[in-house]
Amino acid sequence: MTHRLTGSIKGQTTPAFALLDQHSKRLGITIAGDDTEKRFSIWSSTAVFRRLNENCTVELESSDRRFLLTLQSNLAEIFEDNGLTITWDEINEGALAPGLSLMHVHSVTRRSPGFTRVRLTGEEASRFATGSLHFRLLLPSDPRTPEWPRISRTGRIIWPEEKIHRPVYTVAAQEEDWLDFDIFHHDGSPTCHWMDRNPVGETVGVMGPGGGWCPSAPVLLLYGDETAQPAIARMLALAEGKVSAVLASSDEDLGALANDSRVFRTDDLVQALKSASVPEDGYVWFAADAERAREARSHLTGLRLAKSQFMVAAYWS
Ligand SMILES: Cc1cc2nc3c(=O)[nH]c(=O)nc-3n(C[C@H](O)[C@H](O)[C@H](O)COP(=O)(O)OP(=O)(O)OC[C@H]3O[C@@H](n4cnc5c(N)ncnc54)[C@H](O)[C@@H]3O)c2cc1C
Repeated sequence: MTHRLTGSIKGQTTPAFALLDQHSKRLGITIAGDDTEKRFSIWSSTAVFRRLNENCTVELESSDRRFLLTLQSNLAEIFEDNGLTITWDEINEGALAPGLSLMHVHSVTRRSPGFTRVRLTGEEASRFATGSLHFRLLLPSDPRTPEWPRISRTGRIIWPEEKIHRPVYTVAAQEEDWLDFDIFHHDGSPTCHWMDRNPVGETVGVMGPGGGWCPSAPVLLLYGDETAQPAIARMLALAEGKVSAVLASSDEDLGALANDSRVFRTDDLVQALKSASVPEDGYVWFAADAERAREARSHLTGLRLAKSQFMVAAYWS
């Protein structure tokens, strides 16, 4: 099914086209077209801006309504912030931000010295089964009177004045109406502080999924610290080719992974990466703190691996 949204910008086609060109880098898009039409694709959606007499028409299309509304809100924000208004034919004013679901904390369970599992329940949990492994957890500053980001009169997202903490976590397990995620304990963490007060029954926001799926490669080499352990556990289950994982977690925190013959433990992730040889059909996935991620990226770039052969992410800094 194709979802569509249309809109127009009155008498401002030339500045609208210029604004798109200006923002193409920020959005990571390539804009095609000429003086009469601009088009681009992003988030499984397409956008077409057309010069029509004095005005500019806007047409958005997507197979996924969440992506369509995300694109609408991003464009609304960019144009509004630059003094141009897109008049949309349809706006879900007051609705929750696209991709945001409210879920309830069902249980908080200590799994190992370093990890606690949280189960969230809610009707929209099934959305988190495919496409991407991760989500943003939205923790309002006052759980008794939570306020959520919503769609404004002009189609952009308005965030509440009260700060919402929104760290990224990985879906560890999931079924029709629940999802689990594992929090690694560390000092100074608002999420750990929230978890420590056993927030069973509270409502949280869950935004996503996003951030990618298990890479498809004949040989997959995974490296990660504790924060990447949930993602690596998912990828060990999802990988279709040969897969191995090196984890900087304690034996106790590895849990069942400690008995998996594909999993190795290390105290030095970067050194472990440097000691490995990457086969021609191999793909390296590396996630840890920003410093180690920088070192890993520099090492892999030095090996002259193609960009399509590795992914390095800073999971925290
Ligand atoms: C795609 C992705 C998936 C992730 N999945 C998971 C997951 O499933 N489970 C998980 O536990 N984490 C995961 N993380 C990491 C998590 O988002 C970060 O650890 C985040 O910082 C946690 O937020 P916070 O509430 O601690 O607040 P923040 O304000 O982000 O951090 C508070 C303080 O804690 C420090 N800090 C953050 N992480 C650590 C750490 N690991 N060790 C020591 N100090 C730290 C920060 O430097 C800061 O000083 C993921 C990150 C990404 C990008």
